[in-house]
Amino acid sequence: MDGKALAARVRQEVAAEAAELGRPIGLATVLVGDDPASHVYVRSKRNACEEAGIDSIHHELGATTSEEDVLALVADLNADGRVTGILVQLPLPDQIDEERVIRAIAPIKDVDGFHPVNAGLLLQGTPTLLPATPAGIMELLATHDVQLQGARAVVVGRSNIVGKPVSLLLLMQHATVTICHSRTRDLVAVCREADVLVAAVGKPDAVTAEMVKPGATVIDVGINRVDGRLVGDVAEDAREVAGLLTPVPGGVGPMTIAELLRNTVKAARYQTGALAFPRL
Ligand code: NDP
Repeated sequence: MDGKALAARVRQEVAAEAAELGRPIGLATVLVGDDPASHVYVRSKRNACEEAGIDSIHHELGATTSEEDVLALVADLNADGRVTGILVQLPLPDQIDEERVIRAIAPIKDVDGFHPVNAGLLLQGTPTLLPATPAGIMELLATHDVQLQGARAVVVGRSNIVGKPVSLLLLMQHATVTICHSRTRDLVAVCREADVLVAAVGKPDAVTAEMVKPGATVIDVGINRVDGRLVGDVAEDAREVAGLLTPVPGGVGPMTIAELLRNTVKAARYQTGALAFPRL
């Protein structure tokens, strides 16, 4: 499954929607500290925004910034009419409580979809701003006509960012979903039942050939650096057993950025009233 090509299509669609909106869209990015991977991610998100006609409003804070200062910045961004979306790049330095910062973002500007209001609405089956990686995975599955209704889906990983929300989205598409994690007993046997297997672990070779049912659809979310190379969570020999699979790089990664842009336009539409955000 070519995530790069699909992401290019989504980005074109988003650019057209952004132009149609008739008012500026501004994505504020907040980067705290000097994690090199975070710098790379934020740079690509900002570039993608500008290409889609979305204004990028960037704030970079030092590694020793206090939680109060980050919360004050988020409050300013919530109140700023030019800012229609807010993204605080994770992870944050240890002195800052990430959950508290996420909860401070106005739900209607929460383009990462991590705020408890948006996460809760997803849980209840009324999705608003979806976390980008799970949304990208669902778009890849839909584009490739992967049958989900009645299918066995196994998700390895239970993070709030990937594992849990993608499990809910698969459930909404009527898959029978099993969520696995580090304490799952007999992971090999559970995974081998999957028609659709999502690996969101963050360990190279977490999914081996014996864990993949021949012909299954395998989504490799992992991004791991091994000897200076980017690899996913799915071992090389497992990739041969799969029917459809996402490459790393060039699979889920580009879709994540495309879906972030989609959310940014959606958030702006909520703010203009073109779309109604659920009343709280
Ligand atoms: P987390 O570290 O938050 O979660 C990892 C999950 O994997 C946990 O639920 C953990 O279980 C589980 N796990 C760890 N070891 C095992 C094991 N041996 N067997 C079974 N389960 C295990 O990671 P994220 O969800 O944030 O990210 C996962 C991966 O996806 C990372 O490589 C990350 O870089 C990548 N990623 C890629 C994105 C993209 O755009 N392509 C976007 C976001 C993430 P437990 O809960 O029990 O600890």
